[in-house]
Amino acid sequence: MDGRVLVTGASRGIGRAIALKLAPAGHSLVLNYRSNHDEADRTAQLIRDVDGEVTLLPFDVGDREACTKALEADLLANGAYYGVVCNAGVHADGAFPAMSEEAWDQVLDTNLGSFYNVLRPLIMPMVRARRGGRIVTITSAAGMMGNRGQVNYSASKAGLIGATRSLSLELAKRRITVNSVAPGLIETEMTLGFAKDEIKRLIPMQRLGRAEEVASAVGFLFSDEASYITGQVLAVNGGLV
Ligand code: NAP
Repeated sequence: MDGRVLVTGASRGIGRAIALKLAPAGHSLVLNYRSNHDEADRTAQLIRDVDGEVTLLPFDVGDREACTKALEADLLANGAYYGVVCNAGVHADGAFPAMSEEAWDQVLDTNLGSFYNVLRPLIMPMVRARRGGRIVTITSAAGMMGNRGQVNYSASKAGLIGATRSLSLELAKRRITVNSVAPGLIETEMTLGFAKDEIKRLIPMQRLGRAEEVASAVGFLFSDEASYITGQVLAVNGGLV
């Protein structure tokens, strides 16, 4: 199985691990990121090191106009995608009464607005290509169970689950599966400032997860073995309930 796959937020962290997981399966990777060119170049080099095909496509997933412009030009030049991983995300935590408009808007636009901004231009070309496909969104344990200080983030990630489930119903007969992966706490730059000892006590497996462990779930959902799985949320969280 091959074809172009867009991974958003692929310059580092979970997105980089996902790109590295999908490249050996024969997919041609298109790496999106916002601004971190050096890290994106590093991801691209790691993919070339395993003889993978890769190109870079930077744009802000929360900026609808920028997304449309970048994706329409890319589609025109290179044709439809086989798969998309909506991974790019941010958090801006704080108690709700003190949450600024910027913190609400930035998190909702980046994490949930991006579902519309990125996927809408890509869906009809995928459908017209008539070869099925795979869409995976990266949500979060916070979107499934809520988290203090993350009202904006939880709302965006819960919204992503609803959008994913609904889109799966629209695309099922086209053989395009649409699923979510919901990581718990994963060791990346996003969790650098977190109180890890305290957090570990809450996780049944008593450790944070690795980006590669999230990528494995995405790799499975992209595989032929997962051809009859759609509209699901696969939690990768060390046993959090
Ligand atoms: P990370 O290390 O902070 O990396 C974030 C990635 O997203 C970077 O590649 C960044 O690009 C990109 N990005 C951020 N805003 C963007 C925008 N507006 N447009 C395009 N790209 C953007 O985060 P991570 O920990 O790998 O998280 C990846 C996903 O997993 C996120 O959706 C996050 O919510 C979710 N998640 C993470 C955890 C965790 O514990 N780490 C847990 C649950 C869910 P630049 O490098 O250019 O800034």
